[in-house]
Amino acid sequence: PPAKKVVTRFAPSPTGFLHIGGARTALFNWLYARHTGGDFLLRIEDTDRARSTQPAIDAILDSMSWLGLDWDGETVYQFARATRHAEVANELLAAGNAYKCYATPEELTALRESQKAAKQPMRYDGRWRDRAPEDAPEGAPFVVRIKAPKDGATTIDDKVQGPVTVQNAELDDFVLLRSDGTPTYMLAVVVDDHDMGVTHVIRGDDHLNNAFRQLAVIRGMGWEEPVYAHIPLIHGTDGAKLSKRHGAVGVDSYRDELGILPEALGNYLLRLGWGHGDDEVISRDQAIEWFDLPGVGKSPSRFDLKKLENL
Ligand code: GLU
Repeated sequence: PPAKKVVTRFAPSPTGFLHIGGARTALFNWLYARHTGGDFLLRIEDTDRARSTQPAIDAILDSMSWLGLDWDGETVYQFARATRHAEVANELLAAGNAYKCYATPEELTALRESQKAAKQPMRYDGRWRDRAPEDAPEGAPFVVRIKAPKDGATTIDDKVQGPVTVQNAELDDFVLLRSDGTPTYMLAVVVDDHDMGVTHVIRGDDHLNNAFRQLAVIRGMGWEEPVYAHIPLIHGTDGAKLSKRHGAVGVDSYRDELGILPEALGNYLLRLGWGHGDDEVISRDQAIEWFDLPGVGKSPSRFDLKKLENL
């Protein structure tokens, strides 16, 4: 049978301009989809209502078009899908893979403080996990939590990092629905990736820990697990996480202020963490032909503005 069509996605949170790291993530997703003849989707993760802005959305869409990263189908807006996210939380509840937690904020603060004093990791202790429904205080507010696996270990065979294992005891029963019924980011990502048919999740390795939590939801729903590829973050030449002080970090400033051509920035981003022999300049067509996940390096890339300006 023919292999399943690859579907990748770029899922930025519109809280600011498109930065270099995000642009590279978008580029790798785009290239992998184009290389395999699959689809590349765009999802704007605007669930954080206080920090998401329309100018940020516009800047991201503009920067992607400028870089030549076209996406397939309509842009998906995460916040518009909140009802669907809640529906999945309720399915998990009905299947016994999630539960209502009535712990009060005061109780949780006390829990954290005692864990802190005992120098234990601060995490929810599952106190409502196995309580009988009759115990529920009537009319009291509750959150819905996932029943994360407790015994054994979970291994992700990451296409960039290799196999990564965590002990399940380290996973907490994180919140899926808040007491006002709104979904958390952790739930929304999984539901959206599933509904959009995403087969390959390629993103920054700051999300690797989340992948283990997200798997608990995927398994609770009995959904197919995506292939994960967590790419190392970009650092400055001093080894610190890339920030404003390393120079321009927004794609729009390369276009508007520095006058860099999109081909040059795209080529530079491609070679930041992915290589093809000694080739310095790789055309888009060559990149599409050659790009693959095993070629993505495991260690953080160093971003050097000088090199880019000299291209
Ligand atoms: N919205 C997340 C971010 O901008 C990305 C989530 C994901 O790729 O799964 O960091």
